[in-house]
Amino acid sequence: MLEVSGLSKSFGGIHAVQDVDFTVGKGQIVSLIGPNGAGKTTCFNLITGFYEPTRGRVLWDGHEVTARKPCRMAQLGVIRTFQKTNVLRSLSVFDNLIHAQYLRDRMPLWRTFWPGSVQARNERSISQSADEILELVGLEKRSDVQAGSLSCGELRLLEVGVALGANPRLLMLDEPAAGLNTREAETLAELLVRLPDQWVESLLLVEHNMNLIMRVSDHIVVMNFGKKLASGTPAEIQRNEEVLEAYMGKAA
Ligand code: ATP
Repeated sequence: MLEVSGLSKSFGGIHAVQDVDFTVGKGQIVSLIGPNGAGKTTCFNLITGFYEPTRGRVLWDGHEVTARKPCRMAQLGVIRTFQKTNVLRSLSVFDNLIHAQYLRDRMPLWRTFWPGSVQARNERSISQSADEILELVGLEKRSDVQAGSLSCGELRLLEVGVALGANPRLLMLDEPAAGLNTREAETLAELLVRLPDQWVESLLLVEHNMNLIMRVSDHIVVMNFGKKLASGTPAEIQRNEEVLEAYMGKAA
């Protein structure tokens, strides 16, 4: 579904991403890993149109989408999260999920003042979908709680729920397990493996939590100093010496 080839981005003399190739197939969970500053988030920014590549191409569903605007990529079903939260802390959990869905509900302004039966039907469908997402992420009992008072683990689950509200085909999550303890990361992993097929077509993750990565990924792409260092299944990556060296340094 997603094909990235020769992707490169330089900021002056900093070669943040150099000649990176990878694909994300339908039904797959693919993870982009690597030490700090390896170029993972820059790849996300290039795929979703926040940055224009210096070189290289992005294909989505067989069509060239290189440097398309972020809102256009979102309309095509490529939805990403940021390391900074996408949750509105002053709204309730439920209202965050409702709010997320207005991205896909396109209605003329006058409908706000004269809502008719179409609008009432839309509102019902949005509310029903918010209920389904609440149940999926396991926050049914926290529906009326202000998002700002959720625990870190609950907040991360809500962030995934908000992103799902935008109806993604490819969901790209940037460090969804940041700040989570082992039990919370386990709950998040259980949610992520349930997403492909029914809720999204594919998942692309940037993540530092190795337990979560090894547990959920079908395929892993390892980056170091802006370049692709290795790619393969979790088992292949775990025994790749170059990868171990990048993370732990060369053995004396
Ligand atoms: P982390 O795991 O710490 O989030 P990362 O692998 O996501 O790191 P990037 O954020 O993509 O790494 O950064 C790759 C390199 O590009 C770094 O050296 C960073 O300082 C540089 N960089 C990223 N964005 C910019 C920018 N807008 N201007 C200049 N340099 C940038």
